[in-house]
Amino acid sequence: MVDKISTDIVIIGSGLAGLRAAIEAASIDSSIQVSVISKVHAMRSHSVAYAGGTGAVLYPDEGDSFDLHAFDTVKGSDYLADQDAVELFVRLAPREILRLEHWGMPWSRRPDGRIDQRPFGGHSFDRACYASDKTGLHAMQTLYNTCLKYDNITFYHEWFATSILVEDNEFRGFTALEIKSGELYIFEAKAGILATGGAGRLYSFTTYGHSATAEGMAMAYRVGIPLKDMEFIQFHPTGLVPSGILISEAARGEGGYLRNKQGERFMSRYAPEKMELAPRDIVSRAMMREIIEGRGFEGPNGLDYVHLDLTHLGEEVIDEKLTEIKMIAMKFAGINPVNEPVPVRPVAHYTMGGVHVDINGQTPVKGLWAAGEVNCVSIHGANRLGCNSTTDCLVYGYITGKNAAEYVLKKTDKSDVPLIQVEKEEKRIFDEILKGGFGDDPYLIRREMQNTMTQHAYVFRDGKSLEEGLRKIRELRKRFGTGRVSDKSREFNQNLINVLELDAMLEVAEVVLVSALARTESRGAHYRFDYPKRDDVNWLKHTLAYKTPEGPRLEYIPVRITKWEPKERKY
Ligand SMILES: Cc1cc2nc3c(=O)[nH]c(=O)nc-3n(C[C@H](O)[C@H](O)[C@H](O)COP(=O)(O)OP(=O)(O)OC[C@H]3O[C@@H](n4cnc5c(N)ncnc54)[C@H](O)[C@@H]3O)c2cc1C
Repeated sequence: MVDKISTDIVIIGSGLAGLRAAIEAASIDSSIQVSVISKVHAMRSHSVAYAGGTGAVLYPDEGDSFDLHAFDTVKGSDYLADQDAVELFVRLAPREILRLEHWGMPWSRRPDGRIDQRPFGGHSFDRACYASDKTGLHAMQTLYNTCLKYDNITFYHEWFATSILVEDNEFRGFTALEIKSGELYIFEAKAGILATGGAGRLYSFTTYGHSATAEGMAMAYRVGIPLKDMEFIQFHPTGLVPSGILISEAARGEGGYLRNKQGERFMSRYAPEKMELAPRDIVSRAMMREIIEGRGFEGPNGLDYVHLDLTHLGEEVIDEKLTEIKMIAMKFAGINPVNEPVPVRPVAHYTMGGVHVDINGQTPVKGLWAAGEVNCVSIHGANRLGCNSTTDCLVYGYITGKNAAEYVLKKTDKSDVPLIQVEKEEKRIFDEILKGGFGDDPYLIRREMQNTMTQHAYVFRDGKSLEEGLRKIRELRKRFGTGRVSDKSREFNQNLINVLELDAMLEVAEVVLVSALARTESRGAHYRFDYPKRDDVNWLKHTLAYKTPEGPRLEYIPVRITKWEPKERKY
């Protein structure tokens, strides 16, 4: 018998989006019980790692405007963003910056005491609010501390959600493992919010924390919710070689240069106006072209690179504004950026696609919302602009928290959890995987999957290589079997958790490849040598991937355009 925990709203994930949603839901009515489940402690969520900034229009008197922020976002997205959602997003963004400020966020300041903003790629105005280069740590601390003030928010740290319970297309709850005891529980609730973050660990060379393993996407996909636009994975230009740790865009925002082997600032060939601050897809492609054409440096394990040069910025600027970047370069590459250039190459950094939701963050299942990197509204389309993601987490945390709370207040009827689904999940985890699990070594399979994705679904793609990648992932899926678990104990079984994570990642990797193979054009982060042009006639549309026993089935829905007709992107 599986024990049941009853609550009103369950939020899976305690990153920026999950915490923001919890505060909103809890503050609407103190009678609403909010439970936040997270497989790692809140303050270990990936959001803590973000350094660069959070974008919003703060100073219209100085020339910024909602229309400008929206246009930059739409253009950056290579016109795949839904423009009504972008317009809503930019309007709600400034309030979120001020809310954080009121809750105690130590934003960096201008000399006159007002919140400072730094430049970020693809933005035509300095728009990134920051707190030195530890913005994520401060934002998360501010939100977490604020959550603790609410008696109606309960945290379940180190609990691992395994499935969504749905009946009659209505959300009924989640199943989750308490990692400490290894017991499975039912979280029965009227509303749910998925805030499980991105899928960066599909790749070997990645900026993500080890917990970004895609269960939220896989859980939704398994109950029939489509995954949208999964072919669009962002490669951030400056991953530190060889670890992949992010050198934040703040480095280029503060004036850093990219140079090839000849010492040339090569961005002048690709984006003569914006140079290093062109959008990420464009900078990443430029870097890879330099490397492919022999103007890069040879790196370890095929990780050829170019130089990020900060030496002209001077020690003072680097120490004050790029503290963490200096620390990372020194600790993880033995390089002091004050005197030496830093070796960098494009690195998997963001999942533009995700769980299909509407402009309200609502999934097709009644009572279930999704917020933050796990969802796809779509605001970021085919390429996200820097500093727009954390804003998205705050804005959609607010929207989904509010909508879920209002839904719960109105919902008077009680719906039971489907116990047959719980029994099936119990059987799957304990009998089929923990006791009877078979298959090849899951850690080898994970490494092969990550290498396959890095090789076949990276910055440059083509049909043949994508097909080969898909073939390999399907073969890995077979070799994975049910998932082999060597540690048979219940308590703190990290081996079991890793197998459940890999199960989700293999599923999502297949969706990325199938969606990328079908999209015979180049747009934003999805660039194909065999189809190098954007094709608005046939492809100005979102991909929806549905789970079927034969693999993903694709459907398409139109992009919503309000003001900005698609044009060629020039920077
Ligand atoms: C190094 C780095 C730097 C970045 N810099 C910037 C920046 O400067 N500006 C910007 O706008 N964006 C930046 N981004 C992107 C941005 O930080 C992320 O998109 C955002 O923080 C994601 O927040 P989230 O709340 O959606 O998810 P996350 O913060 O990733 O949190 C996911 C949560 O879900 C939980 N979870 C996942 N699966 C399960 C499960 N099965 N059961 C229970 N819990 C689960 C995790 O424990 C975690 O609490 C950066 C990203 C990285 C990796």
